[in-house]
Amino acid sequence: MKARTMARIQRAETPHTEWCARDHRCGVDVHRSAELIADGPVGGRAVITRVRAAEVDYAEIRIRVPLSRTEDTARRQLGTALHLCRELLAAVAAIRPAALRGRTDQRPAIGQRAA
Ligand SMILES: [Zn+2]
Repeated sequence: MKARTMARIQRAETPHTEWCARDHRCGVDVHRSAELIADGPVGGRAVITRVRAAEVDYAEIRIRVPLSRTEDTARRQLGTALHLCRELLAAVAAIRPAALRGRTDQRPAIGQRAA
């Protein structure tokens, strides 16, 4: 019986991007931006990192949300967080180049007050 050897993993090196950190955060074929941080109330924090892996760009989002010690409240908070994560995914997915075509110079929200 022949001994089976582990397959050798080879990854093709990809060049740094215009936006990646160009330091230890990048790998051979994965490139990562500096972290974008949004602090929220009572210790909440969201950290977004732009990542390119295998020619696909995506946003890696880590969110820390402090929860109540009261179980019912904590469950409601988790439900709200899940609901808003779904809305976030849908809102980001709705932004497509075709939707923006011809409107690149129009930024209707800039200069307007929130209702
Ligand atoms: Zn890089």
